[in-house]
Amino acid sequence: MRTLVLITTFALACTAAALPPDPTQTEFIRRMESGRHQPPGRLDADSAHSYDMISLSLDYRVDPAGQPMTGWAAVRLVARESLTRIPLNAQGMTVLGVNVFDQALPFTHVHDTLSVDYAMQIGDTVTLDIHVSVPAETEPGGVGFHSEASHAYTFSEPYGARRWMPCFDQPFDKFDEVTVAVNMPASWWLASNGALIQTTYPSAGRKREVYYHNHPISTYLVMLAAGSFARQFETVDGILYRYFTFRADSAEAAYDWQRTPQMVSVYENLFGDYPFEQYGMVQTDIMGGWGAMEHQTFTTYGYHLVDGERTYEGVVAHELAHMWFGDAVTCVDFRNVWLNEGFATYATALFYEATEGQAALDTIMRDMSEHYLNDGALWPHPIYDPPFNMMFSVNEYEKAAWVLHMLREQLLGDSLFFAAMRSYFSEFSGGWANTEDFIAAANQAAGVDLHWFFNQWVYQPGHPVVIFNVIPRNPTPHDVTVMILQVQTFGPTFRFPLSVEARTAEGTSSQMVWFDQHSQWEVVSFASDVDSAWLSTFQPVLVEFRTVNADEKPEIVRDFSLGPIYPNPFNSTARVPFVLRAAGRAVLRVYDVNGRLVKTLADASFSPGRHEIEFAAEPALSSGLYLVTLESGAQRRIAKALLVK
Ligand SMILES: [Zn+2]
Repeated sequence: MRTLVLITTFALACTAAALPPDPTQTEFIRRMESGRHQPPGRLDADSAHSYDMISLSLDYRVDPAGQPMTGWAAVRLVARESLTRIPLNAQGMTVLGVNVFDQALPFTHVHDTLSVDYAMQIGDTVTLDIHVSVPAETEPGGVGFHSEASHAYTFSEPYGARRWMPCFDQPFDKFDEVTVAVNMPASWWLASNGALIQTTYPSAGRKREVYYHNHPISTYLVMLAAGSFARQFETVDGILYRYFTFRADSAEAAYDWQRTPQMVSVYENLFGDYPFEQYGMVQTDIMGGWGAMEHQTFTTYGYHLVDGERTYEGVVAHELAHMWFGDAVTCVDFRNVWLNEGFATYATALFYEATEGQAALDTIMRDMSEHYLNDGALWPHPIYDPPFNMMFSVNEYEKAAWVLHMLREQLLGDSLFFAAMRSYFSEFSGGWANTEDFIAAANQAAGVDLHWFFNQWVYQPGHPVVIFNVIPRNPTPHDVTVMILQVQTFGPTFRFPLSVEARTAEGTSSQMVWFDQHSQWEVVSFASDVDSAWLSTFQPVLVEFRTVNADEKPEIVRDFSLGPIYPNPFNSTARVPFVLRAAGRAVLRVYDVNGRLVKTLADASFSPGRHEIEFAAEPALSSGLYLVTLESGAQRRIAKALLVK
């Protein structure tokens, strides 16, 4: 899981700069930009552009060792308005020709856009037969078609399908069905979406296999992987499982992946029936062998993630959960990617809760909280509509999983929470959903409007950062007073509960108390006189405590701190004070508000105690807000500095 996330983030960061503007999406983007940070309304069809894709049929030749993939992509579509040209995304490939019924059509191919001259009236359908040559991608984590010595595969999320097949490359325009045919070396096997329907041997040393999938499917979930695999099959409760591995890894994979049918059974109980007829996993070099991708009915799985010890079983559970959330129900666009990633991340925790119990869930959620607070809390981005290079960050995985956990623990309880999950899945399976669709499902289960909850956790950045004090026997011996101050740099003043525990003559008991003010104190009454009281170790909220009760863990802040920066605002030079609790390496960096690294102020070993570093703003640095970060070991602090020129 963690490896997946880290590697995915890295891989996409590598491709971010290469994404060109996409002319076919102009109208869609303009509509959405105008409502930026507003929940989008539902679109009235599965397509907001001038046509709607119906089906895809690929017939490609695949060869090893970096050779290009060549062949035909047949895209069938229906016009939503009168057209004289049909625009398709097609990036980095050579388009050799476009035919309709063997009639060659004029076309242009500029940057990302293949534009085919063809007149259509509303409701007309056409099948474009497009002859392409697709070069092999050379970047290990890059999207597109990869060709290695022993196998070849595709990887598309988020916008890489266009690098190996012409299409309208947005999640909301699903194909109703896909057919994938691959001509490959005779010793290879094909993995693709749906069912294997044909195997032939067209020429000496060559094999051709055809898969067919008759469920709606988004472009980024279409896949092929072909190679010299070992293959194992089983059928459990009517679902066909296919396990394709490197030949040397088949025994280890058989152990690592053994619980896949059990995971399906757990998810079916929680969310609803498995939405397809088959599932599979195929081992490849995807993301350098360290990532995995939930292609519909056939997950592509990094070869390093098979070790015979189930170290990465969480990745198996995560990718499988995407069959419900991501593949059957797909985020309408990648602004809503948390509906894929947060759900699959939380589903993984639910699998371990179902098989190992409450303590396993608590441990996983605590790990996620720490991971988010250590690695991701720095970034002032809401879960909804992340910047491109943050699309696969801890915000969309761990924090988003915590949103679901908090919805369950704070507001709905188990029966209503899972009712909401099931109704959301059944209503949108086979199509797409946006954040408002899920909120509607939660509201329906709750019987009240929960927008305040999603507004603070999904549409706004950050999390509560709390300084608190717990005062037992105050104001009376059976009371506990809890005082808090919300000191977060980003985001709103949050509304959330804290769990308070007290020891009395009858034993230890806990109560939940809600806060919604920047500065607030609440009195919690227990049944009898209180001996001592504290905040529970495991809270039902994603919260960062800056100090704790002085009786318990004093000085959590004072011995590791950053700032205040002075002067602030500053004109050319500011001083950045910081305190380290122990000798060690400390790194101070400056970022702009978009998360871009501006400069590194220090990266060195320091003695314990107070230090001060100069932040000299170069002439090229423009006026504005900058974020200074201090990292030392697992500790991280952030401070703001305003440059005014
Ligand atoms: Zn995922």
